[in-house]
Amino acid sequence: MSTLETDYLVIGAGTSGLAFSDALVAESDARVLLVDRRGQPGGHWTEAYPFVRLHQPSAFYGVNSLDLGRSRKDDSGLNAGLYELASGSEVCSYFDRVMRERLLPSGRLDWRPMTEVLPDGRLRNLLSGEITELVVRRRVVDAAYGAPRIAANHRPPFEIAPGVQCVPPNALPGLATAPRGPAEAASNLLPRRFVILGAGKTAMDTGVWLLQSGARPEDIQWVMPRDSWLIHRLTTQPGMEFFEHSIGSQADQMQAFAEASTVDDLFLRLEAAGCVMRIHRDRLPTMFHLATISPGEVDELRRIEQVIRLGRVRRIEPHQMVLEHGEVPVAEGTLFIDCTASAVEPRPAQPIFQDGRIVIQLVRLPQPAFSAALIGWVEAHHSDDTVKNGLCRTVPFPYSMADYPATMLVNLSNQAAWGRDPGLRAWMRASRLDGFGPMLSQVDPQDAGKLAILARLKALAAPAMQNLARLAATARSPASTPAGGTRP
Ligand SMILES: Cc1cc2nc3c(=O)[nH]c(=O)nc-3n(C[C@H](O)[C@H](O)[C@H](O)COP(=O)(O)OP(=O)(O)OC[C@H]3O[C@@H](n4cnc5c(N)ncnc54)[C@H](O)[C@@H]3O)c2cc1C
Repeated sequence: MSTLETDYLVIGAGTSGLAFSDALVAESDARVLLVDRRGQPGGHWTEAYPFVRLHQPSAFYGVNSLDLGRSRKDDSGLNAGLYELASGSEVCSYFDRVMRERLLPSGRLDWRPMTEVLPDGRLRNLLSGEITELVVRRRVVDAAYGAPRIAANHRPPFEIAPGVQCVPPNALPGLATAPRGPAEAASNLLPRRFVILGAGKTAMDTGVWLLQSGARPEDIQWVMPRDSWLIHRLTTQPGMEFFEHSIGSQADQMQAFAEASTVDDLFLRLEAAGCVMRIHRDRLPTMFHLATISPGEVDELRRIEQVIRLGRVRRIEPHQMVLEHGEVPVAEGTLFIDCTASAVEPRPAQPIFQDGRIVIQLVRLPQPAFSAALIGWVEAHHSDDTVKNGLCRTVPFPYSMADYPATMLVNLSNQAAWGRDPGLRAWMRASRLDGFGPMLSQVDPQDAGKLAILARLKALAAPAMQNLARLAATARSPASTPAGGTRP
């Protein structure tokens, strides 16, 4: 049996493992062994549905050392006028470049695909079964703790009667060339009626894809167990020309944090300020999983009028759906699209720096790439775990609306802690992953308008934190314990 030695074993070559490794290799002389069960870098993106795109600008996704995309704005489509959003295949080819052009040429990263870490800490190659002993001199890094569940390898959590067609969204673009039964093949017709199951971003992408690919809105039913608040993509734009929208929106959020009387009031204020949107204005959403969307996508989704709000699906039969709170008839031959995989798996927050371990989690919501890179920087530049955990408090994911004030409180206190660390502050100002950091460093000291926005942001920080603490203490959250589970 062979033995490998390394400073860091990084488990998982998704965005988290790659962004962490990239920052650590750039900021230290450490040697890294990066392993993944999958055969290529990129994690869940390698199996994403074909029409997926980033929901945030490419400009601040990926790893710190390599740009993703060309920082251009889309001039057509539902994202027109806003910064480009990489497609899933662009993200995968980007991570392939990260591996070939950054990490491997460093000479300090060893990449082992199709390899898993066994519970006893040894490695096993999944193709040969070969076992390798490991000596990890510094830390084992769990870069898979926040891994999402995805549609491609998700087992539907409801019964499907024989004869019902239910597919993941991955199957949609290839419908015309997929093997079909003799009756369908003879008629040469694809399904003309569709039911979208789920209310998260995957379901929204599926609705937009169906409509843009020619499906008629009246042929689409949408099972939506919960309504969701959505981040307005205009507020996430990295270019200076969007300063009023991006940084101005941060100030608007601070004001809402400072003045809201309840969590619902907070979101209504955020909506009034243009920070968040909802698809159906007559419904008060009960979910906020940080999906980011453009007004064009929302308008498109509003064309689907058959929205079914009877809870989750329990069973699908050829002529009806059985849901938690009722039954709904469906036409024969309807294609069901399972978008119920939870991108945000509930997992308890834990300290990031532990004895001999690092567990990558969010230090800024909703930015996993930035978070992992920042953790890599902190690991490289500080030696005391108390200091490191002080800079990297785990931001708990807001599984329920009531969790949101506590989440934002940690978000803001992390931001304040980073500002007090000169080295980290300088890194952030230069980091492509800190969407707004580089923008802030370009503000012209003579630009009274931008300075006024920054002054407003600063003045609102303390009242925002005070009121968030009050809201966090009063908002009772039965669903905030991860054991309850969550599904879009
Ligand atoms: C459809 C979709 C769109 C999204 N869009 C955005 C976006 O626009 N912006 C954004 O910030 N976030 C987005 N996200 C959130 C996304 O989850 C993160 O951006 C990020 O990709 C998560 O990466 P990860 O490395 O944590 O997990 P993963 O990509 O799942 O990677 C974890 C890896 O660990 C490996 N692994 C696990 N256990 C082991 C083991 N024991 N041994 C070896 N390997 C192991 C797995 O094989 C996997 O490859 C999106 C998520 C989804 C599902």
